[in-house]
Amino acid sequence: MTQQDIRPPARTAAPVRPARPEPRPGRRPLISYVLPVYNEQDGIAAFHTALTAALAERPELDYELVYVNDGSSDGSLALLRELAADDGHVRVVDFARNFGHQIAITAGLDIAVGDAVIVMDTDLQDPPRISLELVDAWREGAEIVHARRRSRQDTAFKRATAHLYYRVLRSCAEVDIPLDTGDFRLLDRRVADELRRYRERSRFVRGIVASMGFRQTEVAFDRDERFAGETKYPLRKMARLAIDGVTSFSTVPLRMITRLGFLVLLLSLAGIGYALAMKFFRPDITVSGWTMLMVVVLFLGGTQMLFLGVLGSYIGRIYGEVQARPLYLVREVIGSRADEREGPGGV
Ligand code: UDP
Ligand code: MG
Repeated sequence: MTQQDIRPPARTAAPVRPARPEPRPGRRPLISYVLPVYNEQDGIAAFHTALTAALAERPELDYELVYVNDGSSDGSLALLRELAADDGHVRVVDFARNFGHQIAITAGLDIAVGDAVIVMDTDLQDPPRISLELVDAWREGAEIVHARRRSRQDTAFKRATAHLYYRVLRSCAEVDIPLDTGDFRLLDRRVADELRRYRERSRFVRGIVASMGFRQTEVAFDRDERFAGETKYPLRKMARLAIDGVTSFSTVPLRMITRLGFLVLLLSLAGIGYALAMKFFRPDITVSGWTMLMVVVLFLGGTQMLFLGVLGSYIGRIYGEVQARPLYLVREVIGSRADEREGPGGV
């Protein structure tokens, strides 16, 4: 008998969710903070102090601070190492290079172990006090708590483009993405576990979370000014995130090609009709060869545009498949498994 034969058969039915130890009775709820850091050396100490001070007002909560250093090229990592050495609540993930804010959040969610996970910026634009309001909403039963910006202190350009963008996104996205919310939010452990199953590369985390369902609520807040340094989202990165947002949750751009294809085909048929009419009714002013040329060019142009739309709709499906998002998310399965039942009738 070979080694292969004596192995037990592989289990095919994967559990819906990895089993998690039940929280010990009387244990304080553990809140994980996921904190992306990219070149924040001038503000990180102030941020840590402010967050720790806010948390000190809530001794009923246990917490861990997961800082993700997203390839900072300044002294941020050295400062984070000091924080970790001085404060047992701190864990630091150090990226090999700059992978971007959305990936940094994802890595933080992968290693956070809390009963609830809060994602927030480390430039003090998301006020630490507000994170406690998110916790309160969670303790009242919400599973996802979005922090919504009532006002913000950014440049007029950033405010105007962001305002417009959230509205355009909402009008074309297939999921209900809340207005004026960035990545500052709280996720219940259950939601964080499910979010980890989404492994798409071009990620727009706030859209994915909004699409997940569960009990969602929001807390409004006034967004402060950046404490130090300048935005780490220059126009280039902002545009990329904006495009990721639209293309991850909408096929409107693809559908536009199909519509345009129909329109161009109709126009080209009209053009062909015109060219033929000119040939038959006004042969005196029609240059020889012009009709054939017009018919061929217009027909090819129109059909090509339409077929691009057809190709686009298949590409849209392929895109949906390669994103490999979970087909469904389960909050709970009620009742025990037949093979684990105890007592008479059980196995
Ligand atoms: N950030 C990051 N990687 C990046 C860009 C930004 O981890 O490539 C972090 C940054 O340190 C901050 C958060 O993401 O904690 C939000 O960035 P920023 O404040 O620059 O964005 P803004 O508030 O201007 O939109
Ligand atoms: Mg900021």
